Amino acid sequence: MMAKPEQANEEWHSTACNLCFVNCGVEIKLGGEDGRQVLKVRGDKEHPTSQGYICNKASRLDYYQNSKARINSPMRRTPDGSYEAVDWDTAISEIAGKLATVRDEHGGDKILYYGGGGQGNHLGGAYATSLRKALGIRYKSSAISQEKTGLSWVFSRMIGGLVHPEVHHAKVAMFVGKNPFMSNGLDRARLFLKEIKKDPERTLIVMDPRRTETADHADIHLAVRPGRDAWCLGAILAHIVQSNLLPMDWLAEHAAGYEKVIERFQAIDVDSYAEFSGVSPSQVKETAEVIAKAESFALEEDIGVQMAPHSTLVTYLNFLLMLMNGNYGRPGTIGMITQLADMIAVDYGPVDENGYETERRTLPVTGAPIVSGLFPANYLTEEILNDDPKRSRALIVESSNPVHSLSDAKRMRRALRHLDFSLAIDVVMSETAMECDYVLPASSQYEKWEATFFPRNFPANIFHLREPILEPMPNTLGEPEMHARLIEALGVFDAGELDGLKTAAQNGMAAYQGELFSQMGSNRKVASYLPYVLYRTLGPALPEGQAATAAIWGLCQMYVLKHSAEAARAGFSGPSAGSDLFQALVDSPTAVEIGISTYEESWARIPHPENKLQMLIGELLDEVDVLDKLEPMLKTSEEYPFALVAGVRRAYTANCNIRDPQWAKGRAVTALTMHPEDAQRFGLEEGKRVLLETETGQTEVELAYDERMHLGTISVPNGQGMRFVNENNELEDTGVYVNELTSVFHRDRFIGTPLHKFVPARVSAC
Ligand code: SF4
Repeated sequence: MMAKPEQANEEWHSTACNLCFVNCGVEIKLGGEDGRQVLKVRGDKEHPTSQGYICNKASRLDYYQNSKARINSPMRRTPDGSYEAVDWDTAISEIAGKLATVRDEHGGDKILYYGGGGQGNHLGGAYATSLRKALGIRYKSSAISQEKTGLSWVFSRMIGGLVHPEVHHAKVAMFVGKNPFMSNGLDRARLFLKEIKKDPERTLIVMDPRRTETADHADIHLAVRPGRDAWCLGAILAHIVQSNLLPMDWLAEHAAGYEKVIERFQAIDVDSYAEFSGVSPSQVKETAEVIAKAESFALEEDIGVQMAPHSTLVTYLNFLLMLMNGNYGRPGTIGMITQLADMIAVDYGPVDENGYETERRTLPVTGAPIVSGLFPANYLTEEILNDDPKRSRALIVESSNPVHSLSDAKRMRRALRHLDFSLAIDVVMSETAMECDYVLPASSQYEKWEATFFPRNFPANIFHLREPILEPMPNTLGEPEMHARLIEALGVFDAGELDGLKTAAQNGMAAYQGELFSQMGSNRKVASYLPYVLYRTLGPALPEGQAATAAIWGLCQMYVLKHSAEAARAGFSGPSAGSDLFQALVDSPTAVEIGISTYEESWARIPHPENKLQMLIGELLDEVDVLDKLEPMLKTSEEYPFALVAGVRRAYTANCNIRDPQWAKGRAVTALTMHPEDAQRFGLEEGKRVLLETETGQTEVELAYDERMHLGTISVPNGQGMRFVNENNELEDTGVYVNELTSVFHRDRFIGTPLHKFVPARVSAC
């Protein structure tokens, strides 16, 4: 329940950390003069997956909750570029009017939507679907399209469901482009690494150009040359194929299309691929044999490869390595999960007999592919900055900061100013908000009911619905209320149209459920605007302040219908299963197991013919031909001799939820890192300011040595360069604003993910 100031120093409040997508369960002790300061944070031992684990970052959550950049009034941009505070009624009426004008004059498909929930902050986004419907918005995206849409395209086509590689239970686990020791992104990351290092029965393989802190825990470190992961993975798979180590009987029973994969990999020259990748052929072959002979093998990749050359091809190779070796549907391999709501939708189009997809929705101007319902954010500016009548005219940004997180920030700012209208919904005055026509201030994730749709666990999956631990900051609103008010200003429903549902809600869940199903049959608008309808009809009947959970009630009903066996194993069955699950989520201070799956279900739920895994993705198997040329996709040159990793997660960097650099006080987090031999070669000194230049931009930064770096590679941390208010109440920024240095045109050719992990760059003394 809400923290009362008089008890604030005694009570621990259960909630979650929002600094990475693991969203560990935490307990927070509040205090300070107003009782609103986050004084202490500890791990929540009751949380079913994090089990009391937290990393060093969670203790700094106060920098998010009490950021000086928070806003407490709707803001309207004035002709001179400054902002003026306006009241909520004025803001809602003007914003609805301007969006309606764009919709009516140009069509709702000219309004883009970006975001829908920051890290671990997704409940508001669930209500945005109703606003998008009211405006006729067709195209949406989020930061997920910067990293994970290649992954979803590959697992959708090969498996057809949302999957969880069980690295925690695999005999052989592998990380490709992932450094969980620093970046987390894995349940109980450091404990897992310690455990696997100590266990003689298990093997850890790490593929990364840098000798990462995770690689320190590995049995095998494949130190590939930057941007050449695809060759190393191709050589590993080719050696397995050529050594007849594949489980042919298993493939015949469970897979389709594997013959063409085998044929292609028979033709690969393992030694030349290995040498080109920078890894010795002997190490490649040793690794291949460890993987092929493993009792179970699971692999997790991350943005180290998802935002690097051959991004989608690398993902395909990673899945081939798991699936071609029989690692699916048994302990320690891959399981298919069930979720209350899919953060990354499964998305595969029709495929012809040669394994090529024949249909895909695309963006109107650039023709860029829409995957998992998301357009590639890297194409956003191109959809705006042109004279095509189909160009985008307006943008709604919710809980996201594309000016900071998308490539080429200058171009993004220009695109925003080119629009007829722009709106930002955020907790803080972000870099994006500073470019928009209107800004609506949201309550923080600790001031409202919240949830994350990220968890991917198998066999038991969890969901954490979190109650507020603080009253909302005055004059801020939750996103569900903002969406509802905008929908009402757009006049979607007639007065009294929803009264029947409101009355039924007062008579209990069963009465409401019956009336809702009846009205969904008789009034199409009820089904089309379901989140809004739930919020305005069921919401008021829920305990005070809890209206935003109404959409979760709807999701629970759908979950138990769709996954009745899994829900029943978790204890939710019978006619009231959906409402029981909802009540369990509301009542529990920590995450709840919502469903327990089995390996048999992982097979039965494969939607492809005969429930078989599809090994052939024609477009990506063809792309292997490109590797045969032994030519890097992106090159360094005499002019730009370094490969810049633009945005690396360090122990004291996090996502953009924390803006104030004071959170890492006393820690050198902002420096550009370089191997000392490279520094010597270019006459650069540690601790000195250097000029970092790319084709897109330049900046000054301090230099630090890092002997772990691969020669020829440099890195700057993520999450820097944000504006913050310093102790003198002045706006300042700190560190490198990496997207001043990146280009929208360096992107994966299949899915459009940006290649931020390989930006040709040069460094010189200042
Ligand atoms: S940053 Fe990630 S791993 Fe660390 S406490 Fe927060 S959610 Fe957990």
